[in-house]
Order: sequence, then structure tokens, then C-alpha cells
Amino acid sequence: MNNFEGFGLSGVLNKSLSKMDYKTPTPIQVQAIPLALKGHDILGSAQTGTGKTAAFSIPLIESLLRSERGSALVLTPTRELAKQVLGVIHDLLGRDSQIKTAFIIGGESMGKQFSQLRANPRIIVGTPGRINDHLKRGSIKLDDTGFLVLDETDRMLDMGFGVQLDKIIKFLPTKRQTLMFSATLPKGIITLSAKYLNNPQRISVGKSNVVAQNIKQEAMHIEQADKYKELILQLHERHGSIIVFVKTKYNADKMAKKLRQDGFTSEGLHGDLRQNRRDKVMKNFRQQNFRILIATDIASRGLDVPHIEHVINYDLPQVAEDYIHRMGRTARAGAKGSALSFVSPQDGRKWHAIERLLNPEAANDHRERPQGKNKARRKPYRGRPESRQKSSDNHGEKRSCKRSKRPATYQAKQGHQGQNSEQCNTEDHAENRTYEHKKKPSSKFIKDRKPKAKKHKTYNKKFSGFKSDGSAPMKRLSKSKSSHKRAA
Ligand code: AMP
Repeated sequence: MNNFEGFGLSGVLNKSLSKMDYKTPTPIQVQAIPLALKGHDILGSAQTGTGKTAAFSIPLIESLLRSERGSALVLTPTRELAKQVLGVIHDLLGRDSQIKTAFIIGGESMGKQFSQLRANPRIIVGTPGRINDHLKRGSIKLDDTGFLVLDETDRMLDMGFGVQLDKIIKFLPTKRQTLMFSATLPKGIITLSAKYLNNPQRISVGKSNVVAQNIKQEAMHIEQADKYKELILQLHERHGSIIVFVKTKYNADKMAKKLRQDGFTSEGLHGDLRQNRRDKVMKNFRQQNFRILIATDIASRGLDVPHIEHVINYDLPQVAEDYIHRMGRTARAGAKGSALSFVSPQDGRKWHAIERLLNPEAANDHRERPQGKNKARRKPYRGRPESRQKSSDNHGEKRSCKRSKRPATYQAKQGHQGQNSEQCNTEDHAENRTYEHKKKPSSKFIKDRKPKAKKHKTYNKKFSGFKSDGSAPMKRLSKSKSSHKRAA
């Protein structure tokens, strides 16, 4: 199928598609749209940036246009992604559409959402926490919601969101069509998805768990203490918009500030910011009002900012799959991009997990084998166990809210004030697998500490060992002279 006309879509959609300049359906669209139009449930995977949003939004809208009744619910793991998906849906609906939408995310005014919900929307896009909040209040009705989409399915079904999702699903009719999409679908998630799907069609475009071919990936073995200096060098070497991923919310802010002091235009994005601040940061980044976005994993999923040319993993992700999603923020829709990961000596397990994910066979070949008496093989690293997370995880409402050790301001920040009473911001689950707000060493401690001798002898050299399709063995990190020498 090399055009959209072949799908037999309504005039409205065809008109919108040509306005959006979508001439040829992407491979995931070619496969998903006809099956979804026939009413099948779908479990779909395709690389990042290859048009999954339209792959589910087109049949969703078409099914609503074909019937006077029924509505659709689209769930995403982050507020930013929900907003983006709603944008695509609005583009597809066109200006004068009779189909009303509601945007239900945390951190935004309940009043506005109440009035959107009272107007009988046929499409609801949102994040699970706030949707559950409305369900509890009885302000949202899902009993005629015959179309459910889970975007970034693996994140939606993982421990944090699974609980929320189960609660929502109870309100949906059992007879419905469910579409699930993601760029990564670990085996466990595929099994887990079965309980939400009815005889699904499995669509997989290209290899799963691979980074797009048009991304040049590099990794650099580097001491933790040398990372910032190297970052500055890298930022000077690169042109265009850059997204730098860090582990904690605290560091996202701190680094953005530091970079501004060092002469770069930079802003931080993380889940502790008020929603209007998050919106503003994203808007300014999209409009290229600043060049460097420092973000936690809240930005790793689905965000489509076509001008991002480089991704830098200042800290590796806590979960290997997020590596693929982070890489996917560049090289959107066939463009080119580059990605660099800083790998510190403490990152061994995380890095091996990423290697194993991208290239399981090769990773097995040089996997660490346990020595001595205890020959039990180490489990692959899949992030810190939930029970040991010290952060403000908002997985199950009750559990997470009770356990939260946040300062009092947390509740206000997360939208607990007044009528804005979402229980927890589950959508920030993406970044909550980390230790937050690390205590800064006191100034006394800094004074007393002996200055460390600079170590440059073993680390700090780039290698480009990945094949972009993740199929070739990855080179081991090389030991060679410092890139700081290069700078000198
Ligand atoms: P997505 O993976 O849905 O975030 O889409 C990635 C990018 O591809 C977005 O910028 C879309 O606007 C664009 N896109 C999606 N489908 C098409 C298409 N059929 N033709 C041209 N661009 C597309």
C-alpha cells in the first residue's frame, strides 16, 4: 500500500492526511490500519519515530466516524506524550469536527477537565492517575468506550502502571477493541498483555529491541568525575538541538543551571516541575528557543521533536529498554541523528544489560561467568527492585503515597492542592526508579576532602562499536588516552 486512499478512509481523514502531508503510510501503518479497521485487537511493535501514533489514531477516528455511538480512550505513560498524541488526533479530526475530545492528565485544573467531560467527549486522551481520580469521583464514564489504546505498552503494563490500568479496565466494556503499541516489548510484557487483549494480531515491523539504523551510536568509558567536562566538549563539538538524559530530577535542574552559567542555552525537564512549567519548557524546546534539554526519563518515551539531532546519555538509564527509547528521540521519521553514552566504571551491570538487549547472542558470548563456588548466574539487571526504591515512586496509589518521603511541598507540586486532587502522579513513574534528591555534601566535607588526583589514564575514549541495527557484536570499551588531552 503506497497511499492512504487504499484504506478506504472517510473524506475527513483523507483531507486531514493530505493537509498533514502524510502521503505514504509507514510500514507500521500499512500493517496496523487495515487490521484495526476490521476490528482486530493488535499488539504492535516498530522502531521509535516510525509513525505509531497515526497507526492507532487513524483507525480510532475512522471507527468513531463510522458510528454515531461509542467512544475511545488513549492512555500514555507521560503527560507530554498524552499532549502530543492529542495533537495528532486533533490534526486528523480537522478543525470543524463534531467529535469532541477531553484531555485528562495530572497537574492540570480539574475544573477544565470537568467541563470537557460534561460535554460528552468521544475521545479521551490521558494518563492513568488522573483518569482513575475522575473514575473515583464519577466524573468520567467509560461504559461505552469500545476502543482502548495503550501507547508505550511495556511501560503501561509494568509494575507502576499495571495497578492503575487494572482499575481503569474494570470500567470499560468487556466487548471492546484494544490496540497496544511500543518500540520495545519484552517477553514478560507480551505475556502480560494477553489479559487485556482478545485474540490479538501481533504486528512487528523490523526487529524488536533495536535502535533505528539512522542513528550513529557511540559510547565513552569515563570516570564519573570527568563527565561534566567531557559534556562541555561534546556540546561544543555538536550542532543543533541536543537532549541530555540524567538520572535524577535534582541533577536535571542543577545541570541546566550550570550549563547556562557556562554559556549554553539550556532548560531542565522532570516530574517535579509544575505542569505549566513543563509545558513551557517543551514548547520552548520545540520552538528552538533553547538548544539543550536536560531531562530525566520522563522524556524518553515517544516525544516527537523532529529537530533533536543528538542524544547524550550523561547517566545510563535504570532500565535497559529505556536506552532504546532515549535513542529514539533523535532521527525521527527517517532523519539522521547521533547518540553518545557515558559509561562510568560503576555502570558495568547496566551497560551489559543494554548490550544484552540490543544484541543477545553476542552479549552471551562474553557474558561475565561467575567464578568459584557460587556459580549461580547473575540475574540480568532490570532496574532496582521496587521494594528497594527509595524514591517517590507512585506505583500503587496507596502504597506509594504512604511511603513517599517527600517534603510537604511535594503534594502541592504534584497537583494535590484544592480541587486539583489527583492522588499521585503515576505518569512520573518513568523517572521514579532512581534515588532522588541526593544529599549534597556539606561545604565542610568538601573543604576537608583531599583533592583527588586526576585520573585520565584508562578512560575517556569514544568507540563506535554498535552496528546501528544492534545485530553485530559490540566492541568492548577501549582503553586509550584521554579526550581531555585532545581538548588541551
Ligand atoms: P510517531 O512515531 O508517531 O511519533 O511519528 C514520528 C514522526 O513521523 C512524526 O513527526 C509524524 O508526524 C511523522 N509521520 C508519521 N506517519 C507519517 C506518514 N505516513 N508520512 C509522513 N510522516 C509521518
